[in-house]
Amino acid sequence: MRKGRPALFLDRDGILLEVVMRGETVSSARSWPEFRILPGARRMAEQARELGLLTILATNQPDVARGLLSATLLEDFHQRLAQEVPLDGIEVCCEDGQHRRRKPNPGMLLDAAARWQLDLSGSFFLGDRRNDVLAALAAGVRPILLRTHYNEPESEDLPNLLKIAQLSELPELLRSVMDRTGHNP
Ligand SMILES: [Mg+2]
Repeated sequence: MRKGRPALFLDRDGILLEVVMRGETVSSARSWPEFRILPGARRMAEQARELGLLTILATNQPDVARGLLSATLLEDFHQRLAQEVPLDGIEVCCEDGQHRRRKPNPGMLLDAAARWQLDLSGSFFLGDRRNDVLAALAAGVRPILLRTHYNEPESEDLPNLLKIAQLSELPELLRSVMDRTGHNP
């Protein structure tokens, strides 16, 4: 059987958009003034595509289930985001609590894999939280952690984890792993 295509899964908050701090809590945009695309996000996604990777957003947005953000505004955010950052797919989980699609569960990645015929073992997930790494590992995807001031310290000890300190380091890392593992599409 022919293997599918590899993807770069991208977490949203802290990777493509600035996180919104509410006191000590790492939160996400609930209004347009809070919607800020990170510099470097567009270039990073373009470079991933140049390497032959599909770019697929995978984001938990429980504020919708909590009544703190309307599903319509969330869709508008993502439409705007996709105009600025080249994304092949957008997977969103608006549920709160336990759900197969909600990270750390791998449902969004597995659904995307079925839809896009992905090669998960040749795919990557770039995120900034422990839940991103756990979802990647559960799906058989290689996790990459962007180090931030709010990373959970225990995230760093998870197996098979690659780390970067800034988005601009990603293309070189992807290239070297893809060369080494022969997953170069
Ligand atoms: Mg995040």
